[in-house]
Amino acid sequence: MIEIQYNDRQKRIIEIVKEHQPVTSEKISKLLNVNRSTIRPDLSILIMTGILDARPKVGYLYVGDQEDKVIANHIRNVKVNDLKSMPVVVDEKTTVYDAIVFMFMKDVGTIYVTSNGYLSGVVSRKDFLKTAIGGNDIRKIPINVIMTRMPNLIIAFSNESIYEAAQRLINCEIDSLPVVERLLIDNSEVYKVVGRISKTNITKFFVELGTKEFGGLEDA
Ligand code: ADP
Repeated sequence: MIEIQYNDRQKRIIEIVKEHQPVTSEKISKLLNVNRSTIRPDLSILIMTGILDARPKVGYLYVGDQEDKVIANHIRNVKVNDLKSMPVVVDEKTTVYDAIVFMFMKDVGTIYVTSNGYLSGVVSRKDFLKTAIGGNDIRKIPINVIMTRMPNLIIAFSNESIYEAAQRLINCEIDSLPVVERLLIDNSEVYKVVGRISKTNITKFFVELGTKEFGGLEDA
């Protein structure tokens, strides 16, 4: 992002407009104790850079940051449910070999593992590579031997914001989160896998965001 460097007088004009808007150039010049002609070029720059708006017969208004707020607001309102894709799931008795073939067929980077239908683990490309270069017989080892397992799994819920999910992906340095529903079975908590949020989902969303026009400033 390009950071615009305003001079001291321009910064003071911004503060005056924020405080007194809508405000005429006459009032701004009085508050600054300078001639109107002195601040004319400053006002032109502030309008050109989008921080101020000039309304004829009304005066100057502060509009800076508003568009950023609209975008931030929009991102925080989008839910995991709106972007999640189909999960790719195997049972924990599946062999590493079969799981690798399945991963290629489904064209994903992470597979979720279930035990009795509920989430028990996650396996990524690197887990498979580690197992393969370790000289193991991948046709014999079940996937639950190599997976990252409960309770160390990082998950997401459908009603969370996509912003929270993206933060979790970055903070935990992983590529995807299983989207789950929490259930109580025989007094113990289990998770049903209902989707997947990956860095690809977030990138697609980012691209869509880039093609949008943010006109609804009143949402900010
Ligand atoms: P890659 O294999 O491409 O590095 P990740 O960065 O997603 O993929 O995985 C790195 C490690 O984190 C792997 O050991 C994987 O099992 C584990 N992992 C991946 N996703 C999760 C998750 N949602 N929760 C816990 N661990 C995970």
